[in-house]
Amino acid sequence: MGVEEATRTIQSRLFIESGNPEWLHDARLTAREIFNETIDLKRDGYNRTEIQREVDRDDFLRNNKCAVVGKALGTWTSYKRLLDWWHNQDDTRAGNPSPPSTDKTGAYPIVMAHMEGYELSIDEEEDRVDFRISPKPYKTVRGHLRARKTDIDQLKNALDNDNWSVGQAELLYRDGVYHLHVTVTTEFTIPDPEEEADTLVGVDINERNVALTALDRESHETLGTLVIDYGSVKARRQWYHTVKKRCQTHGQTSIHRTFSDKEERYTEWVLHRMSLAVVEFAEQFSNPVIVFEDLSGIRDAIEYGTYMNRRLHKLPFHKFEDFVRYKALWRSIPCDTVDAYHNSKTCSCCGERGYRQGRRFRCTNGECAVTQDHADRNASVNVAWRAWAKYRGIEDVDEVNYRTHKTQPQVRLVRLFGSGRVVSRPSSSARIAERGVLELQG
Ligand SMILES: [Zn+2]
Repeated sequence: MGVEEATRTIQSRLFIESGNPEWLHDARLTAREIFNETIDLKRDGYNRTEIQREVDRDDFLRNNKCAVVGKALGTWTSYKRLLDWWHNQDDTRAGNPSPPSTDKTGAYPIVMAHMEGYELSIDEEEDRVDFRISPKPYKTVRGHLRARKTDIDQLKNALDNDNWSVGQAELLYRDGVYHLHVTVTTEFTIPDPEEEADTLVGVDINERNVALTALDRESHETLGTLVIDYGSVKARRQWYHTVKKRCQTHGQTSIHRTFSDKEERYTEWVLHRMSLAVVEFAEQFSNPVIVFEDLSGIRDAIEYGTYMNRRLHKLPFHKFEDFVRYKALWRSIPCDTVDAYHNSKTCSCCGERGYRQGRRFRCTNGECAVTQDHADRNASVNVAWRAWAKYRGIEDVDEVNYRTHKTQPQVRLVRLFGSGRVVSRPSSSARIAERGVLELQG
């Protein structure tokens, strides 16, 4: 068992009841000035303490100032990391990252610590969450938050419960409305998979689909397989990429930026949808553990997520794994990694090497009952087997004779489409996940 901390950001809108919204506006402009000054000073070699002294001012809450400086320094650190990576890579076509600009005008989010720059409280009578925001010294804006019911409930829970904490919030302005993004943190007890997992869910990720197979640790039966095909997603991302390239050539920077945003939001949506299907698939089984192949070898190459992924214009696998881990954490489902050797070239039934022919895996062992299998399912079963061997303390899984039953359930395939719809009906992620098990009856 292990305890892990999980943080999420709850998005809400402000319903202002007292105080002047202009104060919020002014403070957001001041936050931009503080951001710009912070970056300039950092570039000139000042440290955090010196910067905080330099940018201090009377019209901005001191505590908020420290938080804005912190956020600005975070931006600077990301830039420096990206720059380091760029200096060490060999792709001559990769453009060098640009430093955070300091000549921008306009607003910047106000960053605030709970009980300092802002405070939330539960209003039992009205069944809502009230806020107090102090954009400037001696100036207070009050009202209540509007958000989805589930989010308000989670906020209340966080304010009420000792196991939760309410952290920093950011104040933004969008489409005529003030938004407050509040971070809440809690801890989850995660079972130790070696001790407690009954079902090993192997995940095989490749450029066309994500294949999941649930393997029963005791009986060695495969309990279900789900293959999520996202081929059309790749086509759509490719299309965004091409359009962006064209705008770039024609110097249409604003359209280029719009398409970058769209592509990013679209990718986030796809990752969200697919990762949800993975955890919901796993959740259907008794004490599951989600097992990934260790991609650390190629992880270095895609360390700088979006930057590189946009260049590769394929699904960011590393980010996908992060999404799954995050969602699994909120359900107290453990995740694990195993070695990636030969998982796609080994027969999950007899353990012999085989080969891939299109979408099929073919076993070359004449004694093996499986002459062919769905290639990605075969790989995902092998990932699950590696976890089984790992928990048994077996170094080399190839040395073991225990193998999957020869009759495996039929592979169910769902397709995630670019439009955001999923064909063959199961529209929710839960329904997508179920399909991998429904096949047991079919
Ligand atoms: Zn075989």
